[in-house]
Amino acid sequence: MNNLSKYLTLLEEPGLGLLLTSRYSRHYGAQADIAEGVAVVTKAGCRYFTDSRYIEAAQKGISGFEVLEVNMHNSYTQRLLDAIRDFGITALGYEEHSMTAGELLRYQDTLGVKLIPMDGKINSFRSVKEPWELERMQKAQDITDEAFSKVLKRIHAGMTEKEVQAELIYCLYACGGEGLSFDPIVVSGPNTSLPHGVATDRVIEPGDFITMDFGVIWHGYCSDMTRTVAVGYATEEMKKVYDTVLKAQLAGIAAIRVGATGQEVDGAARKVIADAGYGEFFGHSFGHSLGLEVHENPGCSPRNPEPMAENVVTSAEPGIYLPGKFGVRIEDVLIFKENGSENLTHSPKELIII
Ligand code: ZN
Ligand code: ZN
Repeated sequence: MNNLSKYLTLLEEPGLGLLLTSRYSRHYGAQADIAEGVAVVTKAGCRYFTDSRYIEAAQKGISGFEVLEVNMHNSYTQRLLDAIRDFGITALGYEEHSMTAGELLRYQDTLGVKLIPMDGKINSFRSVKEPWELERMQKAQDITDEAFSKVLKRIHAGMTEKEVQAELIYCLYACGGEGLSFDPIVVSGPNTSLPHGVATDRVIEPGDFITMDFGVIWHGYCSDMTRTVAVGYATEEMKKVYDTVLKAQLAGIAAIRVGATGQEVDGAARKVIADAGYGEFFGHSFGHSLGLEVHENPGCSPRNPEPMAENVVTSAEPGIYLPGKFGVRIEDVLIFKENGSENLTHSPKELIII
């Protein structure tokens, strides 16, 4: 089923349409990434509005929608009012999690139809990926793998975290990334106990861990990966913690299969860390889903009792963070399959000492 037909299944009620305002839902429905615009989906017809900066790309890239330009003669409001009249719309489902209060008030004042918060339903389809979406995610992850092997050759003691971050960003683009999933995290030495620390001017020394968490966007889809490497040497304690995180990640991955709940997958990894005595140092959840955005639902977390469906994507990223000492995180991205999982990430996971 194409994505637009999925949206149409939400429109059984006569007169109901969808108002797609977020970049992600528009991208998902129109299967083309246009930075700015508004789209309307109804059973009577679908329209996509954008301005002169994007109109050519929209007309070339979008299928399933009538694409119309907004300009000084035809504002977004006017285009929406025309669609409401032409398609007999009496209510519009909107995305309450991405619309500002100001935008909602403006729509309430001008459109004259009932506005219904439908974010959960509109964006629910994104959790199960289509084969073509998985292909894009594999490509994004391949680029990330390649960038990791490339950046390892460029890192050495004496560089600052910021210099490593700059090299990493260079490699991500040089290997084919079209954008970054997020600002890469590069932390070293004692800063590695900060799960989402920001790169600083700290100079990397022998005996440090470096944790790098990074990903690219390729054809709209995100990758995500973390590796922790040691510089020069690793102490016995560093090796023990690294080994525990790796075992926890493998235990979590082994629990991934269709029907397993987020809690079960998280719990399998968390048990390994708790049994090793580090339970209090693993504060975040095992994994999050990703796709058009780097953080999507559903999550492999202690708070998710829902069973997972086939072709749900998750990160697998346990960590142990010892304040004032060091931290380790290892992250892959996997697909839920009937009898297990498929790992999109192929970089080695045994401790690398550079
Ligand atoms: Zn990550
Ligand atoms: Zn992640």
